[in-house]
Amino acid sequence: MLLESKLLNTNKFNKKNYFKFLKSFKKLGYKFVNFKNIKEKKNIILRHDVDFSLDLAKKIAIWDKNLGINSYFFFQYDSPFYNLLTTKNINTLKFIQKLNHVLGFHITVKKKSEIKKELFLFSKLLAVNNIKFDKIFTIHKVGEKKQKLNFSKYKNFYKNKSLKIYYADSGGTFRFGSPLKDKEIILNKSTFQLNLHPVWWVSNKNTTKKQKIKSIKKLVVNTLNDELSSYKLL
Ligand SMILES: [Zn+2]
Repeated sequence: MLLESKLLNTNKFNKKNYFKFLKSFKKLGYKFVNFKNIKEKKNIILRHDVDFSLDLAKKIAIWDKNLGINSYFFFQYDSPFYNLLTTKNINTLKFIQKLNHVLGFHITVKKKSEIKKELFLFSKLLAVNNIKFDKIFTIHKVGEKKQKLNFSKYKNFYKNKSLKIYYADSGGTFRFGSPLKDKEIILNKSTFQLNLHPVWWVSNKNTTKKQKIKSIKKLVVNTLNDELSSYKLL
């Protein structure tokens, strides 16, 4: 077992440990790859579902670039926390795209016909701004129908045949144990998908889950305050 596996027994999700964590897979001989060229062994797909803020996504996009990793970012077009189409967020998407990461949609489950129309429309709106979203998607909020949802020409990222192993830091912990303790990974070097949410790693150092959630609230409120300040309401 690798020493690094210990760091994920705690809530110590921060920048330093993010680098350590991902480097430890490189030490094991893994490569971070594009899903189109995936092999059965020693490949990782690194994915980020962006649930709260594009600023946090931007930070982790830079970290990945520094690690020499091209990763996948999935954004919501109907997020209650951010608007994908503000000038600032459009610029952030362009920035992330420029770092050679891949962009896709993070979808809320509802009527299929509605999602289809929304995907079509938002792809166009983003294309107008020279942003290309690949025809890939992930499902927001784990559970029920996530494997079943399919759209023609779009790829449900969870359903990749060669990715039987999946790890996520949902809720700020690896609920099914650390991937660094999985024999399939450590010994067999099987290919897997790793879903790391920017929010758990980027917001404040060494803090508890409760504190992290508090800082997310602050982040959302600050964004709104910035917008409102021009109206001089306060
Ligand atoms: Zn989500």
